[in-house]
Amino acid sequence: MTTTLTFYGAIGEIGGNKILLRTDDGTLLLDFGRRMSEYSKFYSDYIQARSKNALRDLLRLGILPKIDGIYTHYLVDMTSLFENEEVNKKIPLKEAVDYWKTTQVSPCDPTNPAVDAVFITHVHFDHIQDISFIDPTIPVYCTEKTKVLAKATTEVSVSGVDDQYYKIAKESTIKQKPPSYKTLCPEECTLCEKKEDEHPIVVDSKTKFPFTYDVAPKYRRFNTASEGNVKSIKYKLIPVGHSVPGACSILLTLPDGKRILYTGDLRFHGAGEVSMDEYINAVGGPVDILITEGTRVNSDNVLTEEQVGKEITKDISGCEGLVLINFGWKDLTRFNTVHQAAKTNNRTLVISPKLAYLLYGMHCNFPSEFPDPRTMVNLKVYLKREGDLLYSKADYDKYKMGYLHYHGRNTAKDDHNLVRIAERLGIGGEVKNPKNPLPQTCKDQPYDYEEIYSLATHHLDHGLRAYQIRNNPKQYVLMFSIWDSNELFDLIPQDGNHKTRYISASTEPFCEEMEIDVDKMVHWMDFFQINCDYETNDKGKRSFKCRHVSGHASKPELKELIERIKPVKLIPIHCEEPQLFQEIFQGVIEFPKNACPINIDE
Ligand SMILES: [Zn+2]
Repeated sequence: MTTTLTFYGAIGEIGGNKILLRTDDGTLLLDFGRRMSEYSKFYSDYIQARSKNALRDLLRLGILPKIDGIYTHYLVDMTSLFENEEVNKKIPLKEAVDYWKTTQVSPCDPTNPAVDAVFITHVHFDHIQDISFIDPTIPVYCTEKTKVLAKATTEVSVSGVDDQYYKIAKESTIKQKPPSYKTLCPEECTLCEKKEDEHPIVVDSKTKFPFTYDVAPKYRRFNTASEGNVKSIKYKLIPVGHSVPGACSILLTLPDGKRILYTGDLRFHGAGEVSMDEYINAVGGPVDILITEGTRVNSDNVLTEEQVGKEITKDISGCEGLVLINFGWKDLTRFNTVHQAAKTNNRTLVISPKLAYLLYGMHCNFPSEFPDPRTMVNLKVYLKREGDLLYSKADYDKYKMGYLHYHGRNTAKDDHNLVRIAERLGIGGEVKNPKNPLPQTCKDQPYDYEEIYSLATHHLDHGLRAYQIRNNPKQYVLMFSIWDSNELFDLIPQDGNHKTRYISASTEPFCEEMEIDVDKMVHWMDFFQINCDYETNDKGKRSFKCRHVSGHASKPELKELIERIKPVKLIPIHCEEPQLFQEIFQGVIEFPKNACPINIDE
């Protein structure tokens, strides 16, 4: 067999990287991200893919690649979930078998998957999201930080087929309801999740408290060793700077000695991130094939994160009221920059519960690098009015209320859950219930029930509310995006007497939907008379001047990288103008075509 590289997505477009390496000695996928630009041609926040049919629909639209033997069987063929013949009879299977089954790909055989491993460079959705469709028997290789971030992002998202890149769906069957079932339509079919007979215990990683759960969550197999082998292919994960922690390049060495370096997304201008020298050192010599991203091969601008920090610090110091600031919640480098800028101005940064949850997850796993967000100075978490808008416990989901993902079941008396903990503390449930079944101690340490409860409800007690900010606006910098627009009613005084300023410190809009969001944001800002730095385009439309530096290397950085790595062959991807690489590299450049294998034996 010849050794081939096949590219699905990220050709002439930003993101959606999916690279298939086939060799006699193993078959690997490098990234398996969502093709955002293709996806957003058809879908938006309002028109989502049908979750029960997503794989088949996205295959038909050409958004997912037709690769045999990698996708989970029941996503390819939903009829494999049918409990029995009776179910077959209930639906128009003969007339419309394609509703439940696709013949475009063959499903993964878990005993013999077509791919040995899928490597992930970082946790951005255009690099990770479509793993959700891949059979869980295929292991995922990535850095430990990417794994932790993947876990945290799935825990704060609404569960659907799209976010199974970390957690995997519960087993289910399509059954007929029994005739005795009291409903308008007895004997109709329904998709039932498999119930576990006993309630499994899920141990919280920080407090070690064993919560009782209905169904124990199942996770994909992750391998986070930074070097190793998949069959006889040697791999090394090389850390890189990017706009999310944990990003890496992947260096592969084939048994014949051929070296392939896939950069993933990278930059060399972020604060405290990997330098060019460190990177070149880690690569350790020339490579045969360099697969590089080229998002900014058209840009000479080498702005640094430090410069962005200075601009934001100045913006804040020039404001006499509340500062609202928009930045990407997974960009922890930018979080540090904004936090520092707030501190320098003696202000407190108020972040979203989502970001707080992410920071806490990083703290639990990398305590020396990431402090506990509860103890960070000049940092608070924003408590929105949610649900019935009463600021009462019942109004909040878990991560919006505090830092714990598990609150446990809450039905049986002997379940280990938060209500039982509140009972033990005498502050909830049946106060001072003498029959409280919680264990007094665990093997090695006593449970700190107060700590568990405080973690779970932290934002309710210590979070910052809109009226507190409104009373002392000069004291705060509030993380703010279009999704928070309704907060302006609570934040901005009715008398119009305020000096609020909005700063955009996130990426500039790169698709139509984002432009529409900017338009909406401009309307909110106008209505509430909030100061902003605007830019006006040729059509007279206003958008926000961005305090931002990209997560991607600029043309001069890419040029230096290529000159120092000295590849025999260059394959530019994740780039709208790949031909521009001809200006910075005189060797062989291969421009891949979608789904056409490139023979790399020659
Ligand atoms: Zn990225």
